Amino acid sequence: MKIFNTMSEHNHEEVVFCQDRDTGLRAIIAIHDTTLGPALGGTRMWPYRSDDEALHDVLRLSRGMTYKSAAAGLNFGGGKAVIIADPQEDKNEMLFRAFGRFVQGFSGRFITGEDVGVEVRDMEWVRMETPWVLGISEALGGSGDPSPVTARGVYFGIKACSEAVYKTPSLQGRKVAIQGLGHVGYNLAEFLHKEGAQLFVTDIRPERVQRCVQDFRAEGIAPEKIYDVEADIFAPCALGAIINDETISRLKFKIIAGGANNQLADEHKHGRILLVKNILFAPDYVINAGGLINVANEIEGYHRDKALKEAEGIYDILKQIIAIARRENIPTNEASNRLAETRITQAARLKRMHVISRPRQIRGERYAW
Ligand code: NAD
Repeated sequence: MKIFNTMSEHNHEEVVFCQDRDTGLRAIIAIHDTTLGPALGGTRMWPYRSDDEALHDVLRLSRGMTYKSAAAGLNFGGGKAVIIADPQEDKNEMLFRAFGRFVQGFSGRFITGEDVGVEVRDMEWVRMETPWVLGISEALGGSGDPSPVTARGVYFGIKACSEAVYKTPSLQGRKVAIQGLGHVGYNLAEFLHKEGAQLFVTDIRPERVQRCVQDFRAEGIAPEKIYDVEADIFAPCALGAIINDETISRLKFKIIAGGANNQLADEHKHGRILLVKNILFAPDYVINAGGLINVANEIEGYHRDKALKEAEGIYDILKQIIAIARRENIPTNEASNRLAETRITQAARLKRMHVISRPRQIRGERYAW
C-alpha cells in the first residue's frame, strides 16, 4: 500500500517491477503521465543500495521526463526505467534482452533509450526484442550521437537569454564561461566562437582545455575558478548541482545557460536566489532538450537537418518561459514547470473529443499507437 501512496503523491500512472531469475534481471519501469503521448525515457543501470532507492529514482526521473517533453513541445509522456545492477560487472546480452521483452510488453506505451550506465551496444540487445528503442546507432537506422543537436539547442537558448537581458540575440563580443568541454561543451564553444564570443573554458581534463584554447582562442581557467570569472554568461556543460550554497554567492554572471542536467542543487531555494540576484537562469531541462528532440525525430524517420532546426526552436520556448517568469515575478524554473503543466492540461481537454486513433510508424513499420 505504501507504493500506491508514493505513486499518488505525483500522480504516476503505472509502475512495473520486472524480474527474471535466469538472467538476474531486476528492473523497474515507471510511467508518469501519458496525456501527450507514449511515455519516453531512458534506461539507467545503477547499483542501487535498496529497492526503495531505485523506486524513488525511477519515479523522480519519469516525472522529469513528462515536464521535459511537454516543455519541448513534443507529443510524448514521461517514463523511465532503472535496472538494479552494476554496469561494470553485471552486463550481458540475455539480461538486456530479457529487459527488452518487458519493454515490448508495453506495446509502445513506453519507449526507451540510453541513460547513465547503459551504452549503444546494450540498447542494441534490447532492440533485438522490441522496436520501442530510440537513440540507437545510425547503422541500425537510429539518430546516433545527440550532442551536436543538444549543443545547437543550448546555443539558441543562450541567444534567447541574451535577447531578454541585452536586447539582442547576437553574442558577438559577449564573454562566455564554459564548464565542461565534452560532447556538448566543445560543440557549443564552436558555435559561440564562430559568432565572435570571447570564451573562458574549463575542464578537469587539461587536453580538452588546450584544444579549445587552440581552436577557438579561448582562455583556459582552473576548474574551481570558473565560478569567479567576470563574464556575461555561464554555460555549465559538465555536472549537476553546480549552483549550490557554496558557489551561488560567487557568481557575477548575468545569465546561466548551459547543457548540464539538474544544475540547481536545490530547485526551489537556488531558483529563488537567482531571481533575487537578477541572474537569468535557463531551466536546464528546457535548454538541453535538443538531445530528446533528436531521438524523438527517429519515430518518423530521422533527418539530422530537421532535428537541428527543431532544436533551434528552443529559442522561442525560452522566450515564452522568460515572459511568464517576468509577468508573474517567479523563477524561470518555476515558469517552465507552469508552461509544461499548461500544455498537458490543454491537451487533456482536447482529448475529450472522440477520434479513431491512427496507426503510427516507427522506422518504417506500422504499429497501433
Ligand atoms: P561528456 O562526458 O562528453 O562531457 C563532460 C565534460 O565535463 C568532460 O570533458 C569532463 O571531463 C568534464 N568535467 C567533469 N567534471 C568537471 C568539473 N568538475 N569541472 C570541469 N569539467 C568537468 O558529457 P556531455 O555529453 O557533453 O554532457 C554534458 C552534460 O550535459 C551532462 O550533464 C549531460 O547529462 C548533459 N546532457 C547531455 C546531452 C547530450 O546530448 N550529450 C543531452 C542532455 C543533457
